[in-house]
Amino acid sequence: MNKVAVVPGSFDPITMGHLDIIKRASKIFDEVKVVVMNNSSKNPLFNLEERIALIAEVTNSIPNVSVDSFGGLLIDYAVEIEANAIIRGLRAVSDFEYEMQITSMNRFLNEDIETLFMVSNNQYSFLSSSIVKEVAKYSGNITGLVPEPVEKALKKKFD
Ligand code: ADP
Repeated sequence: MNKVAVVPGSFDPITMGHLDIIKRASKIFDEVKVVVMNNSSKNPLFNLEERIALIAEVTNSIPNVSVDSFGGLLIDYAVEIEANAIIRGLRAVSDFEYEMQITSMNRFLNEDIETLFMVSNNQYSFLSSSIVKEVAKYSGNITGLVPEPVEKALKKKFD
């Protein structure tokens, strides 16, 4: 049976932390769907198309990874594509409470879809899209924290 994992998020923009989780998931699952969730109240720096294009570009070399977007409940998306699991990254204890809440709600909505957590690689455990945007905004060095196309796109945004 084809095992499918969903890696959901805002990806505004995708960082090396996200990419690390996606790559690791792609080694365990037959298929990985990175899904840009488009229903949050957050005001994104990159619009949906830009976020999708950047993810597609930086995951281009991983054959079993594809990108999608969804505007409803994640669990409905997971059912729609017949996913076996939802993968979330855990950076620090501070992520835990929020993730527990979402996981419990998703299990309440559908107990057949398992949520799995991957602990962030140490070198990325302090990394978030928001901190990268903050540093990029003031022309700080973000090399190595985001893939090259993302670095370029951020520079362009804040030019
Ligand atoms: P969301 O708004 O859903 O939290 P994000 O784009 O911020 O979306 O994150 C998507 C997923 O990636 C989440 O599971 C988050 O915990 C994980 N993640 C974010 N940054 C990192 C990182 N540096 N290392 C590992 N996982 C991360």
